[in-house]
Amino acid sequence: MNKEWNPGTICIQGGYTPKAGEPRVLPIFQSTTYKYDDPDYLEEVFNLKAAGHLYSRISNPTVAALEEKFAMLEGGVGAVATASGQSAVLYSILNLCSVGDHIISASTLYGGTINLFTVNLKKMGIEVDFVDPEASVEEILSKAKENTKLIYGETIGNPGLNVLDFDKFSTVAKKLDVPFIVDNTVGTPYLCNVFEHGVNISVHSTTKYSDGHAQAIGGIIVDGGNFNWDNGKNLELVEPDPSYHGIKYVEEFKDAAYITKLRVTLLRDLGACQSPFNAYLTNLGLETLHLRMDRHCENALQLAKWLSNHPKVNWVNYPGLEGDPQYDRSQKYLKKGSSGLLTFGIKGGIEEAKNFTKALKLVALVVTLGDTRSSILHPATTTHNQLSEQEQRTSGVTPDLLRVSVGVEDIRDIIKDFEEGFKSI
Ligand code: PLP
Repeated sequence: MNKEWNPGTICIQGGYTPKAGEPRVLPIFQSTTYKYDDPDYLEEVFNLKAAGHLYSRISNPTVAALEEKFAMLEGGVGAVATASGQSAVLYSILNLCSVGDHIISASTLYGGTINLFTVNLKKMGIEVDFVDPEASVEEILSKAKENTKLIYGETIGNPGLNVLDFDKFSTVAKKLDVPFIVDNTVGTPYLCNVFEHGVNISVHSTTKYSDGHAQAIGGIIVDGGNFNWDNGKNLELVEPDPSYHGIKYVEEFKDAAYITKLRVTLLRDLGACQSPFNAYLTNLGLETLHLRMDRHCENALQLAKWLSNHPKVNWVNYPGLEGDPQYDRSQKYLKKGSSGLLTFGIKGGIEEAKNFTKALKLVALVVTLGDTRSSILHPATTTHNQLSEQEQRTSGVTPDLLRVSVGVEDIRDIIKDFEEGFKSI
């Protein structure tokens, strides 16, 4: 495998290099266990002194190929695939935080992550302080505590569609000497290389653009290998781990300490591993990520332009649309395009929003986002339904907001469907 490959080549050939006579296409290794000949070698693998697969809760060759491809795409030192995006977000945090710890997060997050932070992390004794993503460095720093362990944000907030000010958040993280974790699900490893913008750990729901065909739930955590864990704040990474005969992750695994510890402790003990079949599907999806993302971006921009001239539309949000408040930031961090999500406010309110979605024929009412087919959703009554109105507003959700995940169909047919939908209200 060539480290100099460009993203389009990594998408297709990264992570799996068959030897002579082996399958050309990444096989599904549908096996929970692995055979060994030498008990001494097996003992070494158990003690993390030798490489090898032991049990598919911890690693599997199909899943490993996906992990390697993803790490190559983002320029990280390693990755761990998980059962879902939710478990990726959770593990990225549990790998650093325990009861009594504190996190500072941008408030514009996916609703499920807000629930995770405010309900279950709270139950675990981990406290999250949310900040307005437009707050100044000083305002964000004022939230910091002695036990602040990390800074968290999303590349493109879902569904507020604010582009994260990476420079500002990474400045805060550096001042506090804590890692900066970013959910790059909507940014995708193709459109946004977060490690070039001060991020230390990225997380993804691969369920979205990575799989890209709405077939496999999955998540992944990628380690940028660019944070000095030996700073007195991350003792679990530095001090001996009694559950592995006193192994010290930083000493043993250097740059890959974080991701190794995550695999061998969190996958081992909590077990939200990705299945080989889902890894196979996600890997297949990634083979066309670069082609799909170019088309998602192109279609979304065209639809955003069309909507912004429509008399039944109050406003349109698309970071790549000239004049959008996020436009300059999108040009800085998302040079190849602003992904496939756009939102707009329909004239009227909740009723009109619901009737419009009912009238569409090609663009379907669907909860998820980021696959080849165009879809639409009313977040206030669905994904963000469990949040209070105040929480909805701080995460960028208003009652008239419709979110469109613009697919890769022919844009003329998408626009025609919207035209018919507007006629019906
Ligand atoms: N992060 C973001 C930005 C998401 O949009 C989602 C799901 O919509 C998740 C995380 C959770 O991922 P999953 O549904 O794969 O658990």
